[in-house]
Amino acid sequence: MFEKILIANRGEIALRVLRACREMGIKTVAVHSTADNEAMHVRLADEAVCIGPPPGRDSYLNKAAVISAAMITNAEAIHPGYGFLSENAEFADMVKDHGLTFIGPSPEHIRIMGDKVQAKLTAQKLGIPVVPGSDGAVKNEDDAVKVAEEIGYPVLIKATAGGGGRGMKVAASKSEIREAFKVASSEAEAAFGNGEVYMEKYLGQPRHIEIQVLGDQHGNVVHLGERDCSLQRKHQKIFEECPSPALNPKQRDDIGKIVTTALKKIGYHNAGTVEFLYEDGKFYFIEMNTRLQVEHPITEMITGLDLVREQIRVAAGLELGFSQKDVEFQGCAMECRINAEDPRTFAPSPGTITGYHAPGGRRVRVDSAMYAGSKIPPYYDSLISKLIVQGSTRNECIMRMRRALHEYVIDGIKTTIPLHQAVLDQQVIIDGNYDIRWLERFVADWVRSGSG
Ligand code: ADP
Repeated sequence: MFEKILIANRGEIALRVLRACREMGIKTVAVHSTADNEAMHVRLADEAVCIGPPPGRDSYLNKAAVISAAMITNAEAIHPGYGFLSENAEFADMVKDHGLTFIGPSPEHIRIMGDKVQAKLTAQKLGIPVVPGSDGAVKNEDDAVKVAEEIGYPVLIKATAGGGGRGMKVAASKSEIREAFKVASSEAEAAFGNGEVYMEKYLGQPRHIEIQVLGDQHGNVVHLGERDCSLQRKHQKIFEECPSPALNPKQRDDIGKIVTTALKKIGYHNAGTVEFLYEDGKFYFIEMNTRLQVEHPITEMITGLDLVREQIRVAAGLELGFSQKDVEFQGCAMECRINAEDPRTFAPSPGTITGYHAPGGRRVRVDSAMYAGSKIPPYYDSLISKLIVQGSTRNECIMRMRRALHEYVIDGIKTTIPLHQAVLDQQVIIDGNYDIRWLERFVADWVRSGSG
């Protein structure tokens, strides 16, 4: 087992990884920008190295600086968390070339899944159901028209290099397709420096359901069930729950089997998430994330597993200590992502937290790096806390989440807590009967009515 791990991230996820290391008796090295000198992950790590000025590209995304920090502190492995360098195949290669271990899948798998066209073709080849669409990239407007005629309107044009929902355009009919193609390609070019796009059938009212997997370097792959992440605003998840209110155990077993069989074929190891849209009882692959996800704690709550611990173990070459039949699901879990944002306009709200009190009690978990007096710099993601609860039933979870949100005090900045409180009062949510379009409509009404 490793003696020392460098954590190439900040905020709650750096702390999350640090906690797993501590519990395994592994020493930690934090890296940080000058904006994070007093951050919790820096205070709690055994060692800390400042790797640059505040902007991400000059610090947390600076590959050479991160690797140098690992070399000078004699760390043996690097955990990338999520975001930043976590899905950067070149970085994973560099880590390996320096004789260090990247705590994640192989650079080859990161590369395949990072290109959305290749990922989809690979998924299809491996027997995973995909959204009907173009075979690979679509070169020009004429081809876009042809593909749309074949798959039928409405269609969605997506960026090959996509991420965060950018470079995505819907065309409802033939009159819109040429314009949509142009806009999607130029948006993709502007956002990713790569204007290549592909096309998919646009699903009207799907849910977003994803399967968590874990594999070792000895050919074992298990799935840890699903997470329902259908509550999204601008393609960003804000709330997740498991199990999905839409699935029964047989559907879970079936899709789980398809995913694990496919990933065994390519020798996938470490944590990964296969994301699907789900409509009328059918799954459609959209992408695979080759890293730990923000919402992993809800899976931990119902399986009793520590995903970061498992990631570290398999990266060190150990076998998964359990098989599929050992994985059991206990009750339900939910997570609210709390962002430093105005809950109505979603404008970022950086600043200093003047007062802080986190909720507690039975089956409540708070993953956050905040404390009274901590500063939220304007340079990074606005996620400041994840409030996670577990319950024997879905109703118990909702009641517990409401009381935990009620207890949560974060003074000095605006947060999205009021939005979560309003959402959890809606009958659609209580019934578990929502799709990926529901939240945007709700937010528009909520803001308009002024009840927020
Ligand atoms: P990104 O990598 O930009 O996040 P994804 O392919 O993961 O892109 O899709 C992000 C979100 O966009 C999905 O969660 C879903 O809300 C929506 N979406 C993607 N593909 C489709 C589709 N074929 N039909 C309808 N909505 C889609």
